[in-house]
This record gives sequence, structure tokens and C-alpha cells, in this order.
Amino acid sequence: MIEVNGLGKVYKIRKGNFGSEEFHAVSDATFTVKRGETMALVGESGSGKSTIAKMLLQLETSSSGSIKIAGQEMAGISGKRLFDLRRTLQPVFQDPYGSLDPLTNIGNTIMEPLNIHKVGDRASRRERMYELLDQVSLPRDMATRYPNELSGGQRQRVAVARGLALKPDVLILDEAVSALDVLVQAQILDLLAELQRELGLTYLFITHDLAVVRLIADRVCVMQQGRIVEQATVEEVFENPQQEYTKNLLAAIP
Ligand code: ATP
Ligand code: MG
Repeated sequence: MIEVNGLGKVYKIRKGNFGSEEFHAVSDATFTVKRGETMALVGESGSGKSTIAKMLLQLETSSSGSIKIAGQEMAGISGKRLFDLRRTLQPVFQDPYGSLDPLTNIGNTIMEPLNIHKVGDRASRRERMYELLDQVSLPRDMATRYPNELSGGQRQRVAVARGLALKPDVLILDEAVSALDVLVQAQILDLLAELQRELGLTYLFITHDLAVVRLIADRVCVMQQGRIVEQATVEEVFENPQQEYTKNLLAAIP
């Protein structure tokens, strides 16, 4: 479903008033995620996880390598084909700090992707929005409320509902449960697992929390300074980590 080959990202960083310097945020990343599978991307802050997510979502251009989604090369496509391909791949970012617009009510937040992609008429978009609220176990009357009137866990459910609106094949979840307390985290992880079974979704699950990885992922890529230094099944990584870096990460789990 996702094939990433030799992917790299070089940012230009300003240096004082004179010139700039190149910074390799991601180097030679290669991995595949099969349909229906959850791949976790872990690594310390600044290791390049979100940069990979942004390149997959076409929010950031890549400097090298290729990204194929459902067999289609993403690099260099534009216009209607890019617009359509984007529908198959949806982001769910960490909500409690800002991915929901405080001035847009929950119903309109969830319908936003449907409006942008002009799916159906107004009535059918509303109906789909109510279905999505059901799917993430939020009451329908929440549609008229605003993000500040919801708990962190409820807001994260809204972010998942919005991510599902266009019936994507892939969700890119970047720290989607990180700001939640452990109990609410477990509820959202359960919800995601249930949706994956029901809808056959493929997840790229970004986190710095290896305890969460054990609960949700099938396979893991460990990143360090822009490179994937280890890639294996969850069992292999936890039982027999190869890299010193991974061993240290595991040792840090409480
Ligand atoms: P975290 O766990 O803190 O979210 P991350 O692994 O997601 O970290 P990235 O956001 O991918 O890390 O950032 C990787 C590196 O690239 C960091 O050193 C960051 O400062 C740098 N970086 C990210 N975006 C830009 C940008 N637009 N311009 C320049 N450098 C950037
Ligand atoms: Mg990040």
C-alpha cells in the first residue's frame, strides 16, 4: 500500500544574514507498509518522523527517492491526479494542541474534507458526518459544539472522524495519542484497532512511545538522526533489538 524507496529531505536553514546551510532531516529511508497493516515510526525528537509524514502527505516536497501509494508514484504528479490520490491518504495529527479550528463547530470540522472534495450534496454530507460521529462513538448532538467544549479524548475522536470522512485507505497518525492520559489513550487505540478491522485501513503510526507501539503496531521502523536504523516486527524489536540505540529506547520504557 505504501512503498517508500530511498526517500530523503534536505532543508535549507538560514545562517545569520548571510547564506544558508543544508540540513539532512531524512536520508535514504526505505520501507513498505502492506494493506491492513500498522507500521510504527519511532525515534527521538528531531529524528525526522514528521518530515516523512509530511512528504507522504505531499505537505513537503521530497529531495530524493520515491513514494508509491497503491502502486502509484507520488513524485511529480499534480492537479486532479494529486487531488484524487490525496483522498486515499489522510492525516490525523495530535489534536489537543491545535489541529482543530476553535471557531469551527464539530459538525463542520468533520465535513470539511467532504466540502473541499465536493462529495455529494449538503444533505448527504450531513448524513455522512452523523455516521462518522457514530463510528468514533461520539453522540450526534456533539455536532453543534465547539472544540473547547470537548475533552482531549473527544477532540482526538473528532480528528479521527475527520480523517475518515473521505473513506481513505491509509491514515498517517502523527503523535495522535501522545497528549492523552493512559486510559484515554487506550480507548483511542482500541477505536483505531476496531476501525482497522472494520474498514481494512493501513496505518503509519508515528510516536515516541514504545509502550504504545507494542499495543498497536505490526512492524516498527526505528529512526535516528534522519535514518532508519532498524526495521522489524514488533516481537523482534522487543525481544531481540539489534541496535544499541533501540536497546536504550527499550530500556527507557517504565
Ligand atoms: P518530534 O518527535 O519532536 O515531533 P520528529 O522526529 O517528528 O520530532 P521532524 O519534525 O521530522 O522531527 O524534524 C526533523 C528535523 O528537521 C529537526 O531537526 C527539525 O528542526 C528539522 N526541520 C523540520 N522542519 C523544518 C523546516 N521546515 N525547515 C528546517 N528544518 C526543519
Ligand atoms: Mg514530529
